[in-house]
Amino acid sequence: MPALKDTLDRPLRDLRISVTDRCNFRCPYCMPAEIYGERYQFLPRDQLLTFEETARLARVFVKLGVTKLRLTGGEPLVRADVEQLVAMLAALGKNPEGHALDITLTTNGYLLEQKAQALKDAGLQRITVSLDSLRPDVFARLNGRNFTPERVLAGIRKAQQVGLTPIKLNCVAVRGVNDEDIVDLARFARDNGCIMRFIEYMDVGNLNHWKMDQVVPAREIVERITAVFPLEPAEPNYKGEVAERWRYRDGASELGVIASVTQPFCRDCTRARLTTDGKLVTCLFASTGADLRGPMRSGASDDDLEAIIRQVWTVRTDRYSELRTAMTPATRKKIEMFQIGG
Ligand code: SAM
Ligand code: SF4
Ligand code: SF4
Repeated sequence: MPALKDTLDRPLRDLRISVTDRCNFRCPYCMPAEIYGERYQFLPRDQLLTFEETARLARVFVKLGVTKLRLTGGEPLVRADVEQLVAMLAALGKNPEGHALDITLTTNGYLLEQKAQALKDAGLQRITVSLDSLRPDVFARLNGRNFTPERVLAGIRKAQQVGLTPIKLNCVAVRGVNDEDIVDLARFARDNGCIMRFIEYMDVGNLNHWKMDQVVPAREIVERITAVFPLEPAEPNYKGEVAERWRYRDGASELGVIASVTQPFCRDCTRARLTTDGKLVTCLFASTGADLRGPMRSGASDDDLEAIIRQVWTVRTDRYSELRTAMTPATRKKIEMFQIGG
C-alpha cells in the first residue's frame, strides 16, 4: 500500500493523543486562570474517548504509518488510570513497516512521583516533564496555582529511578517572566542527566494575549547558554525532529531548542493530533478537526475510520507557522493548546 502523504509530501508519523482537557495547573500561556476558573465547563465524561476507543484509533493510525505516540492533554496524569491506556498502546507492538512504536508522555510533573512506577510497568518508555523555572516565585507565577517546584522535582527524580529515561525537560521561555532562568535550567538538566528543551512561546489558542516581543528566539537561548556552557550543533536524530539539537562541548549531555516561531519547521511536520473528544486535528493552529468519535460510535469499521483519516491527511495543506507573519493572529479562531496537547 502506498505511504500516506499530504499535499506537501509529508507522511503521517506522529500522533499526539490528548487524554483530558483538564489540568491541575493554570499556566498563563496555555490556560489562563482568569478564564479557566471554577465555573469553566470542561468536557463531560461521555464525550471523552474511552481507553478502548483511543487504543482502537491508535491502532488504525499505526496501520497508516504512525511510529510515535505521545500522550498529552491538558494534564494526562489527572486522567484516572491513564497507565491502563499506556498498557493498551504498548500492546499494539510494531507498525506495518516493522518499526517499534515509540510511546511517550508529556506532563507538568505534579502527580509524577506517585504515577511513575505504574507508567513504567505499563510500558511507557520515556517521559517529558515541563519545568519553566526553579525559582519558587517564578514557578508559581507560571503554573497559576502558587505551587512551588519541589513536587515536580521529586517527580523527575522518581521517573529517573524507575527508568523513564532519558528525561526531557520542557521550558516555554517568556520574555520578562522566565528568560532569566534559562541558564539555571540548562545547568540543572546537565547536572541531573536530563535533556533540557526550550520552546519558543507560541500564539496557540486565542486567550493567552501572545505578543511577538514576549518570544525569546531560540538563537538567543543558545547564545545565552553557550556563554556559560559552550555548545556545538548536533545532527537531528531523524527527519522531522521538532527540536534543533545542540551538544555541550564538554560532552555533558545535549540540549534542544524548538524554534517554532522564528524558524518554522512546517515542511517536515509529520504530526497529527487526536483531541480528548475524538477529533483529528492536523495542525497546532487549526480551527477545527475531523470527528472520529461520531462515526466510531455509530458503528464505523476500522476500514471506515482508516478512510476518514486517509481523506483528511491526503488533502492536508497546513503550514501556519510559515505563514504566521502574513496572517493577523487575532482574526482566526484556533483550538486551545490544552485541547490538543502541544
Ligand atoms: N500538561 C502537560 C504539560 O504541561 O507538560 C502536557 C500538555 S501541554 C499543552 C504540552 C506542552 O505544551 C508543554 O510543554 C507546555 O509547556 C507547552 N505549551 C503550552 N502552551 C504553550 C505556548 N503558548 N507556547 C509554547 N508551548 C506551550
Ligand atoms: Fe496545564 Fe500543561 Fe497547559 Fe500548563 S501547559 S496549563 S500544565 S496543560
Ligand atoms: Fe505542523 Fe502546524 Fe506547527 Fe507547522 S504550524 S509545524 S504544520 S503543527
